[in-house]
Amino acid sequence: MAVSDHVDLETFMAGVEKRNPGQTEFIQAVREVAQDIYEFIDDKEQYHAAQILRRIAEPDRVVSFRVCWEDDNHNIRVQRGWRVQNNNAIGPYKGGIRFHPSVTESVLKFLAFEQTFKNSLTGLPMGGGKGGSNFNPRGKSDAEVQRFCQSFMTELYRHIGPDTDVPAGDIGVGGREIGYMFGQYKRITNRWEGVLTGKGMEYGGSKMRPEATGYGAVYFLNNMLTHKGLSMEGKTAIISGSGNVATHAAEKIVQLGGKVLTFSDSSGYIHDPDGISQEKIDWVKHLKTVKRGRINEYVEEFSGASFHAGKRPWEVSADFALPCATQNELNGDDARMLVKNGISAVAEGANMPTTLEGVKVFHDAKIMYAPGKAANAGGVAVSGLEMSQNSERLAWSDERLGQSLTDIMLGIHEQCVEYGNSEGGYVDYVKGANIAGFKKVADAMLAYGVM
Ligand code: NDP
Repeated sequence: MAVSDHVDLETFMAGVEKRNPGQTEFIQAVREVAQDIYEFIDDKEQYHAAQILRRIAEPDRVVSFRVCWEDDNHNIRVQRGWRVQNNNAIGPYKGGIRFHPSVTESVLKFLAFEQTFKNSLTGLPMGGGKGGSNFNPRGKSDAEVQRFCQSFMTELYRHIGPDTDVPAGDIGVGGREIGYMFGQYKRITNRWEGVLTGKGMEYGGSKMRPEATGYGAVYFLNNMLTHKGLSMEGKTAIISGSGNVATHAAEKIVQLGGKVLTFSDSSGYIHDPDGISQEKIDWVKHLKTVKRGRINEYVEEFSGASFHAGKRPWEVSADFALPCATQNELNGDDARMLVKNGISAVAEGANMPTTLEGVKVFHDAKIMYAPGKAANAGGVAVSGLEMSQNSERLAWSDERLGQSLTDIMLGIHEQCVEYGNSEGGYVDYVKGANIAGFKKVADAMLAYGVM
């Protein structure tokens, strides 16, 4: 008779905590998923007997390595790099690379775990992975970033490949960093192959990739509104972050007739009561990707706007909130303030930006709440399509990619409704995303047997 892991949720979580001491973000992410999966698999002995959840919550492997580079003053600098390959049951590992001083093994393990469910939801054949380093690109010269990226790839190339593991960008890794890393991979291996996504258009990148995460999050928000017979027209939104996801989310909200009031970075947030127009969004994109400046410069450029140092934008009243900066940036108190101010929907562009307590506040108040693994899946979806284009040696049109992104986000919404619908018509999007994402990966793992 098979040994079942039919232990209760708290015993399961105690085991996760024991095996991953101090890895708070990873433990938080596993708990959020486990509480829904436990309910779903309660009467499905095959998943218990095969210990599926226990196996998904144990990465296939975690590679950690030294990244040594020389700064402009000829000092030798030593950083740590990682690649977490969480699960490849349904396709090659896929997930971004993050360069930020807050990166730890726990952060990357949580991101790779979440990515496994997100990638499954897209319907494309992609497993879950994530990588990065505690390197801080802020304030570094182009030459320093180039030397760091080359050194990082000099180790990473051993662990990735177009059918093995295909990284992309994330916080601190945009087009510039992907270019340096792809160039180094090509130089070391003497192969041009689709080993990274988010590449430049000149060398195998996909149209719509830069826009896909932010646009996709707003499509998801729009799908939630349509499901309730509502629309975006004339509504206001507060957004955190001012990077790739935040600026593209803002762009799509403006295109759909909404008004964006805020952007932020780690130094504080700006509030523009007149609304952040397309022209202003373009200015922020230039500020962040070309000038590499700070968001407080916005108030010097646009009168009527105010800067709030050291704060997050959740105190500003609006119809929608889109956290698009980083994990755990919206806590229980923030969520209570948003509810008090009359927020009607929250769509996460970032990964796990809301704490478990914050999520509970939204659910208790019956707010439409879309977790990152569903709402921000548009980015990895178009990354998956970039892989297809590289394999075909073809470049798809804007129209085809735009339509694919719209269809994929609609498909994710439908899966969430299928598994997350509860009494009274309230959709628990967290539960829906967790169960739909889990089922496909779990069934593939069952097919493979014990490994
Ligand atoms: P960027 O590096 O382009 O922008 C990140 C933004 O978040 C910056 O404004 C940054 O400010 C801010 N930020 C980062 N860390 C913190 C912090 N600790 N506190 C406050 N603000 C912070 O990254 P992306 O826009 O690509 O990513 C944003 C989020 O979206 C991340 O959670 C990422 O994992 C997620 N995501 C991204 C995808 C993509 O396609 N890019 C795909 C799916 C999810 P500062 O400059 O001050 O650091």
